[in-house]
Amino acid sequence: MTSAPTVVPSAVGGSADVDALADLVAGGGVVVLSGAGLSTDSGIPDYRGATGSLRRHTPMTYQTFRDDPRGRHRYWARSFIGWRQIRSARPNAGHVAVADLQDAGLLGGIVTQNVDGLHQAGGAGDVVELHGGLDRTVCLACGDVASRAELDERLRAANPHFGPRTDEVNPDGDAELPDDALDGFVMVACARCGGGPLKPDVVFFGETVPRDRVDHCFDLVDRARGLLVLGSSLTVMSGYRFVLRAAAAGIPVAIVNAWPTRGDAKATLRVDAPLGTVLPELVRRTTAG
Ligand SMILES: [Zn+2]
Repeated sequence: MTSAPTVVPSAVGGSADVDALADLVAGGGVVVLSGAGLSTDSGIPDYRGATGSLRRHTPMTYQTFRDDPRGRHRYWARSFIGWRQIRSARPNAGHVAVADLQDAGLLGGIVTQNVDGLHQAGGAGDVVELHGGLDRTVCLACGDVASRAELDERLRAANPHFGPRTDEVNPDGDAELPDDALDGFVMVACARCGGGPLKPDVVFFGETVPRDRVDHCFDLVDRARGLLVLGSSLTVMSGYRFVLRAAAAGIPVAIVNAWPTRGDAKATLRVDAPLGTVLPELVRRTTAG
């Protein structure tokens, strides 16, 4: 493995950083690992990033979801409202740029920690959703996987009047409802078996990523010429392990993130600049002509 250009971290991404990044990507075979920071421009909050302190709810753990019917019920009530925001989110310039890099044959894979489906909406294919996707549900009893859009239709029919008043919706689209209001929500059961509780097809805190999915990602990383981390603080091991894997194998790791990350010490290249600016610039420099 040839050594990657090494650039001293800077407070703002300088052109030398982007030059080095373009050199790495232009060689092809780069695997993208994306996180929440890539979707903030699409209006999806990054709870672990700069605004993490604004988090209003402790994330639901898998154990609570599975074992506490009331907690599960309230999760779905909030999710029924929050789904409007997810469904209306559109891919941003960063998502489109990643798809352009893939179209240009420069990527060896796209792995995302995001569950919003915006890579695919931006035109990317073969996206590995490390933590699953919110556009699907899975039945905890029979395992049936169904579309969230279909569930939403059933929920709307069952809850024609449920929801916050306009003045209860925050500017970011999030809605705060008191717990007793959430209890008025009517949840529906699995359409296939009629009894099973439904779970969004995402990996909750306290839940492990399916082994075959992890192995597939390790394969992609092992074959990569470089690992390009986009908008992830690498806080959770489920993504960070791929940085460790690449670094241990001498595969260059480039990180583009607005804040310091857990992986910085392992990175050969670190760019602190907005993804919505850097990624389109990267496309211009690597796919011109
Ligand atoms: Zn079922």
